[in-house]
Amino acid sequence: MERYDILGTYIDPVNIKESIQAIKKAVKDGEAIRIVTANPEIIYQATEDVALQAIINTADLVVPDGIGVVWAARQLGIEVKERVTGIDLTEKILEEGNKSGWRIFLLGSRPGIAEIAISKLYKKYPGITFSCYHGYFSKEDEPEVIRRIRAFAPEILLVGLGAPLQEYWNMENKELARVSMGVGGTIDVLSGQVSRAPRWVRSIGLEWLYRLVKEPNRISRQKKLPYFVKKILYQKRTKE
Ligand code: UDP
Repeated sequence: MERYDILGTYIDPVNIKESIQAIKKAVKDGEAIRIVTANPEIIYQATEDVALQAIINTADLVVPDGIGVVWAARQLGIEVKERVTGIDLTEKILEEGNKSGWRIFLLGSRPGIAEIAISKLYKKYPGITFSCYHGYFSKEDEPEVIRRIRAFAPEILLVGLGAPLQEYWNMENKELARVSMGVGGTIDVLSGQVSRAPRWVRSIGLEWLYRLVKEPNRISRQKKLPYFVKKILYQKRTKE
């Protein structure tokens, strides 16, 4: 499948079903793959950070995370079927992991939050074995964090350190799991500390607005979005 170029970042034209198939294949074949969920903020940031762009462009799977990416792709004449967010893909991973008996490690969020998430997840997904570590470890503690993940030998490593820290971390710590994926605030959502937008809000593509109302400090990140739109329209013009 050919990747498409959004402001120099390469995205795979996959839907959620194809994404989970790639994950199942990696687990089955014993590969170690790295997944990036690329939203407009990180794509824009990558235009100003070549190292970050290289990290994204060398990932094994880069999924279109968010309605802004679907919009951008359409502007550039690429038909993207649907957005694939970190939380939606995580839910699919949990369903699959429950059937197949996967081991899943959650790395990230404030101390204590991943434990709350796991206690909830065990009720819903008894077939999975979980472990976790919080996301505020020091450089000195890092070898211990890595040792724990390695000893746990997870099929799936969900890294919720926020972007782009989690992308740098996954790049530097390859092969700790068959599948390593940056998931942003997903562990907070799984713990019930942060709620997702109602389904109807998501279906009309306004989850970002819901999150902004709930967490107004996100405005500093979303301030970059008009520049993203401007750059996309420029890329569109130069393509024509
Ligand atoms: N976080 C972390 N370590 C850090 C900084 C952030 O574990 O050093 C966590 C934070 O607690 C939150 C997540 O990373 O759970 C970032 O969430 P956000 O919704 O901002 O993710 P994004 O939208 O950037 O993917």
